[in-house]
Amino acid sequence: MFSPLFWLGVTELEERMKGFRCEGCGWISTVKRVVCPRCGGKKFQEVYLSGECRLLTFTRLYAVSEGVKDMPLTLGVVEFDNGTRVLGQITSEKVSVGMKLRLAWGLLRVVDGKKIYGFKFKPEN
Ligand SMILES: [Zn+2]
Repeated sequence: MFSPLFWLGVTELEERMKGFRCEGCGWISTVKRVVCPRCGGKKFQEVYLSGECRLLTFTRLYAVSEGVKDMPLTLGVVEFDNGTRVLGQITSEKVSVGMKLRLAWGLLRVVDGKKIYGFKFKPEN
């Protein structure tokens, strides 16, 4: 359900978020798995998640990790049209459950001068 990209950060430029679709039942995970937790299938196909999603829930953090410049930091769980849910930063200060968001690539934080990039979610317009 949650993408490790936010927590781990990535330093290489990625343009699209990858997912892994179970060939047995069609369930998509953003984490590469050995066995599908829904059907036990072991074959997965790499897919890319579409750019549009909607916000399911969010929270604001006032104590953030080193190098994060957005304060407060808004984190939300979004859902893509195919049902895949992902946790990530929301770039807008005005947020509401159900709002349409779009996947975007951006700077998450800077640690010891090293820029860490990852996926964020920004309002559609
Ligand atoms: Zn499956």
